[in-house]
Amino acid sequence: MPELPEVETSRRGIEPHILNRKVTNVIIRQKQLRWPIPATLKKQLTSQIIRQVERRGKYILLRTDAGTVILHLGMSGSLRILKPSITAEKHDHVDICFNNNKVLRLRDPRRFGAVLWTKADPLKHKLLANLGPEPLDDEFNAQYLFEQSRNRKVAIKTFLMNSHIVVGVGNIYANESLFAATINPGRGANRISLARYQKLVPAIKSILKKSIEQGGTTLKDFINEDGNPGYFQQTLAVYGRESEACNRCGTAITKMVQNQRSTFYCRQCQK
Ligand SMILES: [Zn+2]
Repeated sequence: MPELPEVETSRRGIEPHILNRKVTNVIIRQKQLRWPIPATLKKQLTSQIIRQVERRGKYILLRTDAGTVILHLGMSGSLRILKPSITAEKHDHVDICFNNNKVLRLRDPRRFGAVLWTKADPLKHKLLANLGPEPLDDEFNAQYLFEQSRNRKVAIKTFLMNSHIVVGVGNIYANESLFAATINPGRGANRISLARYQKLVPAIKSILKKSIEQGGTTLKDFINEDGNPGYFQQTLAVYGRESEACNRCGTAITKMVQNQRSTFYCRQCQK
């Protein structure tokens, strides 16, 4: 699943090709994504110039003077920049064509992604209005998490993955940052001290930043004709390492399920 670093990498990958470019056509081959693509999209977007390519959480916003396209990659979506002559394949549902002879093409085999249009402030759209802070912004800090967690008995890992608390901390990043901060993923969010949140927050930021930096090496894939832009391989300390030795203490990594998502942790060093 594309996580925040992949979405940010996608944003950076497409931006230089479409910023300040005029939309010449919109081709919709399959309108039934997570929500139907608005019937008016082609009419509204054609002839508009992309003024800004922005990210909020896992949404990419293409701002024009007439309104904003809200894109989400869902479970399996990817964006590429191609020449219009490249034939669309089975899961290539949407093309946005530009006046520089380039096409922004959305591929989404599982169709959980979204392509929406709003004339209003996209940050106030119902999907975005209640999102928590961006994890890399200063607003997301230990004091904030500590205060938000005081009345929450929910497990810290589930708490971190709640997009109303903070956006973009997906399953892998929650697992990895709790390992880095030596916090047991099952511990109640309200039972974690400010001092421990002061370890956790920098861990989250540094893991996400590292992943975005690694994504930079895949930017060329956005103009690669074959395949999908990389969902990059990361160096993982606990995620997916059940029964393997903990990098810190050698204890076998434990796997459990929390909120229907896999959790990996070291029961020796995460308390
Ligand atoms: Zn350990």
